Amino acid sequence: MSIRHDALRLTLMYMLAAGVWIFFSDGLLVALGLSAQQMERAQLLKGLCFVLLTSVLLYGILHSHWRLQRRIRRALGASEERLSLALDAAEDGLWDWDLRTRELFFSPRYSALLGLQPEELGGTREAWLQHLHPDDHAHYRQTIAELLRSASQEPYENTYRLRHRDGNYRWIQSRGRLLLDAKGRPERFIGTASDITQRRADEDSLRQAAAVFDATQEGVLVSDAAQRIVHINPAFSRITGYSATEILGQQPNLLKSGRHDDTFYRTMWHALQSRGAWSGEIWNRRKNGEIYPQWQCIRVIHDEKGAISHYVAVFSDISALKRSQRELDYLAHHDPLSNLPNRLLFTERVEHALERAQREQHHGAVLLIDLDHFKHINESLGHNVGDLLLKAVGERLKEHLGKGMTLARLGGDEFGLLCEDCSNAEQAADLAQQLLDCLSTPFQLIGQELFIAASIGISLFPGDAQNVEQVLRNVDSALFKAKSSGREGFAFYALELTEYARQRVELVSALRHALEGNELRVHYQPLHCLSSGRLIGVEALVRWQHPQRGLVPPGEFIPIAEDSGLIGAIDAWVLAQACQQMVAWKTAGYALLFVAVNVSSRLFSRGELDKRVAQVLADTGLDPACLELEVTESAVMDDPDAAQALLERLRDLGIRLAIDDFGTGYSSLARLKRLPVHKLKLDQSFVCGLPHDKDDVAITRAVIALGHSLELKILAEGIEQPEQVDFLRQLGCDYAQGYHFGRPQPAELLNLGPCTHKR
Ligand code: C2E
Ligand code: MG
Ligand code: MG
Repeated sequence: MSIRHDALRLTLMYMLAAGVWIFFSDGLLVALGLSAQQMERAQLLKGLCFVLLTSVLLYGILHSHWRLQRRIRRALGASEERLSLALDAAEDGLWDWDLRTRELFFSPRYSALLGLQPEELGGTREAWLQHLHPDDHAHYRQTIAELLRSASQEPYENTYRLRHRDGNYRWIQSRGRLLLDAKGRPERFIGTASDITQRRADEDSLRQAAAVFDATQEGVLVSDAAQRIVHINPAFSRITGYSATEILGQQPNLLKSGRHDDTFYRTMWHALQSRGAWSGEIWNRRKNGEIYPQWQCIRVIHDEKGAISHYVAVFSDISALKRSQRELDYLAHHDPLSNLPNRLLFTERVEHALERAQREQHHGAVLLIDLDHFKHINESLGHNVGDLLLKAVGERLKEHLGKGMTLARLGGDEFGLLCEDCSNAEQAADLAQQLLDCLSTPFQLIGQELFIAASIGISLFPGDAQNVEQVLRNVDSALFKAKSSGREGFAFYALELTEYARQRVELVSALRHALEGNELRVHYQPLHCLSSGRLIGVEALVRWQHPQRGLVPPGEFIPIAEDSGLIGAIDAWVLAQACQQMVAWKTAGYALLFVAVNVSSRLFSRGELDKRVAQVLADTGLDPACLELEVTESAVMDDPDAAQALLERLRDLGIRLAIDDFGTGYSSLARLKRLPVHKLKLDQSFVCGLPHDKDDVAITRAVIALGHSLELKILAEGIEQPEQVDFLRQLGCDYAQGYHFGRPQPAELLNLGPCTHKR
């Protein structure tokens, strides 16, 4: 526009100057009054001058024009080269769309973005559109249409996908500007294109990572190399209670619970330094002070030089998990109806108990309790009532459990009982009987009384079985035995044990009955002075007048009475009987010096014997000097200190004390010397071999010598032969007892004679 104007102005100026020249120069020549010839020459000269002048002018103009053009061309080339280099460096392609000719130019770099040769892209928009992703067509067309319509010269930017030669689409970012003609109409659209596929992928993953960071349920904490917290996520605040403003810049040890020792943290740091990562369970403290467990993974981040730049800790609050694990564990190991351990837990416990029993060499028992005819309850009263009954049975059985016992519901109407400490079959049988007895009381359910009995199988371990499967199999077959032998009873895995234990249990209940029903009797056996041959006292010996079995000797029921705890009542009863009898004899004028009463070692070890004896003496009015208590050697030596104290208290009551069955236990002579006893009763096992058995002779001689040196009297038990009497007398034995002198008899049959002999 300005070029045309300038050219026009220049031409006009030239026409004016040339016109003025022609006009004035011709006028000047006329004014000079030259001749025609001169005039002709002057005209020629003027013409030549004009040509010369205009030629110089033309030359000047053309010269400067071409020089300018060359300079412009050079500058343009340099600028183009720079542009091309810049585009190359930026890995950008160039596009140029001539809107008038509809031609579209692409730089080689542009086609290279798509793995194509420039000519493969085609020179038109239509050809180019073939490469555009179908989903991007609409948006692209709309953007371009709008731009052309508004003829906006604002920077243009658009992102779309173009198909690469390999068939995949690449994300292309296109930037450009619309160029307008003099009238403001779009005439050219030019710009660059760059492949942003990787950048977009990176941005996508960054966006995803950020979303994960924000949305994850795990708390995230990032601290720098100096252990200052630089970043946390929302879950961190939710779990710990600390907001970003409260925690950023702080040290992570603010969260410490104090539950772990230094070794724990040392191990953690060691793992971080050596492996660059640590994971494990750690207890931390929330802002509200609560301590809770986390599962935490810490990772070390290094910078490009390999130095530690950050630590990233990701943790989850596992307190709920732990809680639900505990609940799950409980559910997995317990029966939901009775809340008792189930078969799984029971089996585990039996397994442990078996291992312990084998390791520590002690004994246990497993009892399998099965309700008899439980099916009838279910069928007649419904499963709800059945369930209630099972629950009630479980509760009642539980009331009878001692320490170290596990009651479990194994399924249906079957309960298992593990007794970790059960030294013998009687104890197990006793327990089984107790359980059977406890079920005999009817259950009050749904307003009515329900009766239920059970059968029990018993297996002892480790005797009966070496592993848990064997124990459970044994106890199962024992239960079968119990069921098939009439139910409402128990059976052992081993038949002999069943019989033996059954008898024992029956005996206990019969013995209890005997005590209440006055079936016990006291017989008295005379005790004689060996030197004078006179009767000096009697020993009270208990018997059981059994309605069917007749007179049962104490050897058959005293041990059972001791195991079942009945011994206390029996001994107290015998003591009272003996004292009463002695008072009666004294009153009748018999010159009997004393009555000897046996005291069980069980009773002796309880230590309150002196009070009982004092009570009986007070009740009967017997002179304490007329009572002698016989205590076995083992009872004294089991706990010598306690025995010493008790014996001293008994002596202080004024009664006499004898050590029974002397020689069968292990006496410490030093102890024996200090005991406040008056008499040793040499056990009959040493007397029976006299006078021929050399060992018995040696022992008897030694015991007599020892006793006398300790100033104790010696009584020999179990004398049956006259020569034993003579022999013992020769050895200096003081007193004697045995069938030779008289068997134990009821008081009324005893021949006491009118003796006034003093001991
Ligand atoms: P022990 O105190 O040593 O009683 C002596 C036992 O020897 C008695 O047996 C007696 O009958 C028996 N005996 C006496 N002379 C002879 C004999 O010449 N030959 C033989 N073979 N035996 C003879 P018994 O009455 O059967 O008593 C056995 C054991 O039972 C007693 O031994 C005593 O330890 C215990 N005992 C008896 N009555 C009681 C009691 O009331 N309470 C307690 N705790 N134990 C008792
Ligand atoms: Mg005795
Ligand atoms: Mg004895």
